[in-house]
Amino acid sequence: MSRIAYVRDAGTPGTYTTRHSAAVSVEDRGFLFADGIYEVCELRDGCLVDESRHLDRYEKSLAALRITPPMSRRSLQLVLREVVRRNRVRDGIVYFQITRGAARRDHGFPTPSVAPTLTVFVAPVDVAAREARATQGIAVVTVADERWFRRDIKSVNLLPNVLAKQTAREAGAYEAWLVDADGYVTEGSSTNAWIITPAGTLVTRPLSQDILPGITRSVILETATQLGINVEERKFSVGEALSAAEAFLSSSSAILLPVIRIDENVINKGQPGPVAVRLRAASRANSRISDMQLPDF
Ligand code: PMP
Repeated sequence: MSRIAYVRDAGTPGTYTTRHSAAVSVEDRGFLFADGIYEVCELRDGCLVDESRHLDRYEKSLAALRITPPMSRRSLQLVLREVVRRNRVRDGIVYFQITRGAARRDHGFPTPSVAPTLTVFVAPVDVAAREARATQGIAVVTVADERWFRRDIKSVNLLPNVLAKQTAREAGAYEAWLVDADGYVTEGSSTNAWIITPAGTLVTRPLSQDILPGITRSVILETATQLGINVEERKFSVGEALSAAEAFLSSSSAILLPVIRIDENVINKGQPGPVAVRLRAASRANSRISDMQLPDF
């Protein structure tokens, strides 16, 4: 298990410490108000996958919430690598979170401003279990999308996502697909949502404040275009998904998982579809392994 985390806030100069003793203030605004953002980057064979896209999104999220970056991009890259190195994890995820910092509880921003809190940890992924899910396909359930209106910001304000995921788990499903007031799927609780129409067109919701601009989503879209697959970025309804030829979801930790059941409805005779399988392999090959390699363990 990965044991070493990194913490840096007003009271703690950047420290690598055991996960057990890593701590932030009870007055941290991430803890009190979900006033912070996070990123999850896939770790593959000891390397960060699509790192620069994740860092670009991280910078956008910070700017959207007007939180000052805790350090330069280059320094953050070094910290991420050091946490990976100290934990000796090769396949998993790197999680990093920045909050507005710790201050006396007051909804408005602290004045004077305080140092942001940066925390980093890594977690291994069960590669065999992920591959089994990809081979067998997974089930999703549909639930109402009850989130705020800035889902494009990767904020730690995830309570509706937590509740939706729990609904999925209790229904024996892997993911919840969130449905807007007009009956269109926005995305999953922690993944982007896709269908392939009977005519073979790949469909996913266009970027807007309604969904997170998934990094895996961007790689899959580029890959689909390279493979000559017809792509439409548009909304799709639950009804259209139920009659789709295939469906799948994507994220940095799940990669691409074929959906074989939506609520009680079986998709593609309960089998992962050929387009999803092809896209999974090709987009994996297309994702960019960080150019700043980690030293060998
Ligand atoms: N949508 C939501 C709501 C998510 O939480 C995630 C995972 N962070 C995604 C989509 C997928 O994004 P990515 O491919 O960057 O992991």
